[in-house]
Amino acid sequence: MTIEPETADFIIIGGGIAGASAGYELRDMGKIIILEKESQPGYHTTGRSAAIFQKGYNGGDPVLHAIIKASEDFLHNPPNDFVAHPLLSPRDLFYITTKENAGALGKLQDNLSEINVGITLLDHKETRRALPHIADDYQDSALMEEDVADIDVSALHEGYLRAIKSRGGQIISNAEVKSLCRQKGQWRVTSAQGEFCAPIIINAAGAWVDQIAEMAHISPIHIQPLRRTMALIDIPVDMQPAKNDWPIVMDAAEKFYFKPDSGKILVTPADQKLTVPCDAQPEEIDIAHAAHCLEKATNSTVNKIDHSWAGLRNHVADGHPVVGFDPEKPGFFWLAGQGGFGIKTAPAMGRITAALIMGRSLPQDILDLGLREKQICVGRLK
Ligand SMILES: Cc1cc2nc3c(=O)[nH]c(=O)nc-3n(C[C@H](O)[C@H](O)[C@H](O)COP(=O)(O)OP(=O)(O)OC[C@H]3O[C@@H](n4cnc5c(N)ncnc54)[C@H](O)[C@@H]3O)c2cc1C
Repeated sequence: MTIEPETADFIIIGGGIAGASAGYELRDMGKIIILEKESQPGYHTTGRSAAIFQKGYNGGDPVLHAIIKASEDFLHNPPNDFVAHPLLSPRDLFYITTKENAGALGKLQDNLSEINVGITLLDHKETRRALPHIADDYQDSALMEEDVADIDVSALHEGYLRAIKSRGGQIISNAEVKSLCRQKGQWRVTSAQGEFCAPIIINAAGAWVDQIAEMAHISPIHIQPLRRTMALIDIPVDMQPAKNDWPIVMDAAEKFYFKPDSGKILVTPADQKLTVPCDAQPEEIDIAHAAHCLEKATNSTVNKIDHSWAGLRNHVADGHPVVGFDPEKPGFFWLAGQGGFGIKTAPAMGRITAALIMGRSLPQDILDLGLREKQICVGRLK
């Protein structure tokens, strides 16, 4: 007896924030099945972020700025039934630098002004007052970015998944996709949990998107998984008394950043080691470098690293996301390349996905922010 594959209108491969936001925006447009290879949909990059909402991302990249701005309203004002508490908790962000690297701060200031990100330049006295816990070397001046916040990533992710399920969508875990083929206008997907069929598949497999494309005999976008390390450090004695409302402190050239997190300090040495798609693990040398960055920027001594992890920031060559149908085969949609910005852009990326899948142009508010389809389409990489 042959078992017929389960059918849907959209099969989403990957249950991270990208797949979840796409499913959320498509939930009223047809039946959705999300296939996730792990037992938890947030197991990979989505569950390993620094959870920062910041508009001057990547030195003030205008393309990313437009997508972040277009996500802001949802993150500030999610629908009533989406989540029980705010998704964003305001937290100040200061960019710092040493005197020798003052140019990096000036360049960042110019870039952020150009895209109208609210900033304030602090002189030596103001920097000392705002950042008393920072080493003298870094106190010459600082740049404060306005409207920055911590994001409740799991509430956002769970909110999306819950809404999909409430409309009859399915999120199937332990369902690694193993093969894909197109027959009679349908994609037939073989997974560890059986076979599924849909006219449209959305490739939201994070670091694995090129492997999914290969299964479909579609050429790759050359995704580059870049490993980044995070270390949760006990607050050094010489930084006491610790304050919960300490700001995020970021090196102006993004060589490191740190912020308070659950009574400790979360630090990254902003490493970006090219790796293969995998369950990323932190390496001793990067953890030690994280501690060194904190010690140098705060003139303190790290005694204990509580916990550390690593995640993959998945980029394509120009650092912009990839959203759209593949030109080589019908019904194969890419939602990839969210690098280090996939949480704060998820609401807009979901809306863009739904618009393009339904054959519409980008949403008008996103066009008004200056984003154009050619900046994010797959064709630019092929
Ligand atoms: C250290 C670090 C800090 C970050 N900080 C921030 C931040 O402060 N703010 C921000 O906005 N962003 C941040 N990011 C980026 C953000 O976390 C990512 O852009 C986002 O999580 C990417 O989501 P995703 O759904 O594309 O990937 P993932 O979460 O990796 O999801 C892809 C899913 O696809 C699944 N999959 C793969 N292959 C298959 C298969 N064959 N079958 C079925 N399923 C499959 C995987 O199991 C995975 O769950 C950070 C990232 C890192 C690593």
